[in-house]
Amino acid sequence: MKVLYCVSEAVPFVKTGGLADVAGALPAALAHLGHDVRLVLPRYRSISTEGLAPLFPLRITLGDATVEGAVLEGRSPAGIPIYFIECPRLFDRGGLYGEGGRDYADNLARFAFFSQAVVAIAAQAFPPDLIHCNDWHTGLVPAYLRLRERARQQGAWPALYTVHNIALQGSFPAEQFPLLGLPRDYLAPEGLEFWGQVNCMKAGLVYADLINTVSATYAREIQTAEFGAGLEGVLVARHRDLYGVLNGVDYTQWDPRVDAYLPARYDPEDLDGKRLCKRALQKEAGLEVLPYAPLLAMVSRLTDQKGCDLVAAVLPALVERGVQFALLGTGDPRYHALFAHLARDHPRHVFIALRFDEALAHRIEAGADIFLMPSRFEPSGLNQLYSMRYGTVPVVRRTGGLADSVTEATPGTLRDGVATGFVFDAYSPLAFLATVDRALDAFRDPVVWRRMQLAGMRADFSWDRSAQRYAALYREAVGRRVGGLAAGSP
Ligand code: ADP
Repeated sequence: MKVLYCVSEAVPFVKTGGLADVAGALPAALAHLGHDVRLVLPRYRSISTEGLAPLFPLRITLGDATVEGAVLEGRSPAGIPIYFIECPRLFDRGGLYGEGGRDYADNLARFAFFSQAVVAIAAQAFPPDLIHCNDWHTGLVPAYLRLRERARQQGAWPALYTVHNIALQGSFPAEQFPLLGLPRDYLAPEGLEFWGQVNCMKAGLVYADLINTVSATYAREIQTAEFGAGLEGVLVARHRDLYGVLNGVDYTQWDPRVDAYLPARYDPEDLDGKRLCKRALQKEAGLEVLPYAPLLAMVSRLTDQKGCDLVAAVLPALVERGVQFALLGTGDPRYHALFAHLARDHPRHVFIALRFDEALAHRIEAGADIFLMPSRFEPSGLNQLYSMRYGTVPVVRRTGGLADSVTEATPGTLRDGVATGFVFDAYSPLAFLATVDRALDAFRDPVVWRRMQLAGMRADFSWDRSAQRYAALYREAVGRRVGGLAAGSP
């Protein structure tokens, strides 16, 4: 099947979070299954033009203006063809979505341009069987496809829309609607309007043929007021078209057997390398080099979503228990200040790195004993999957993909050797601390701990299975359009 996969970030080109990991790995896994998948990405300043070939110029209407750009062709290291959308006015900037903690004021124009460029590629360079859109940045693509359909233009390709995080919706004042060049009736409650605003996420949810999100639990959760961020009604209305597919792990990047970022490598049969990684991390972090002190860690965007307030609340109590803690993250300035303060108060036990650092993220995964993910909500979550592979036992809240991927330690699961982590329910410091305490108890029992580490390291969350599920969704979307003729073809 021919698939145009459009997304605002992808490893190894640009990354702010898990979306980039998915966009780097899923297309390659689909290609491995025999599909012709091509990526569309904005050409941000940090992406070099070296080796990119101009394909065709773009002239895109945004309101009264015509904005010029170009499509450049390249390839990912894995051999996936990539169309880069060049438009210096919109994308030649220091950040992806904003700078200094503030979103760019013209983000609607930027991603309306990008979305129209995706449709132009389908029309002029690569007519796909299906267009796969991801998150709010490409939510307008299905709206533009519907417009073609309405105008009876050739090529109104079916679209699958994937929600990676319902909380980030791309919401803009209605005054900016004319930018989009869409008929007035699109700005309606049954269209992309939401509480008087243009809502790009809603455009994707309303106009795509099929919708999915990144775990089965999150697919259920977002149909409720607690998790739906206001869009639960739209999702309930489309629940027959809504699926959950758990993200996978790219084990060529995230596996302690092969990870080039680590000071030592290891595997389930021999964990000596992990001990060396812990030692090296303690040294790097300025913590005491104590092999038996439990080293807890977190690598995360520092936002309300990730449970940073819970971690900050329990940290002093954990320090009293002799625990060491390493955190790598960036985000909300409030949390920067809070964690910097905690590090100052407990310099011998707490290490805080407030930056984005891919290599350190790998070294922390390998060097830590316990990984903390007490998220309020977590669509899929990747770090808990990475942690398990690195023998770093996760403590997670029972939500979204965390609930779907971590097997809670109970007498039964421990006996059967399938327990991979510790899980708690109530979003409260008390519940969280009690669960970390359970993890610390288990850590002190080398036999139990080793069993849990091995169960996690041997669990398989590779992309193959998830890629097959995406391929089935593609067939379903295409099949609906052509009366089932395409179903079954790869
Ligand atoms: P989300 O997509 O919500 O940010 P995920 O757990 O799905 O959360 O994915 C987060 C990804 O981003 C992981 O690959 C993680 O290692 C990485 N990451 C997050 N913050 C940082 C950071 N400060 N430095 C390096 N990598 C980070």
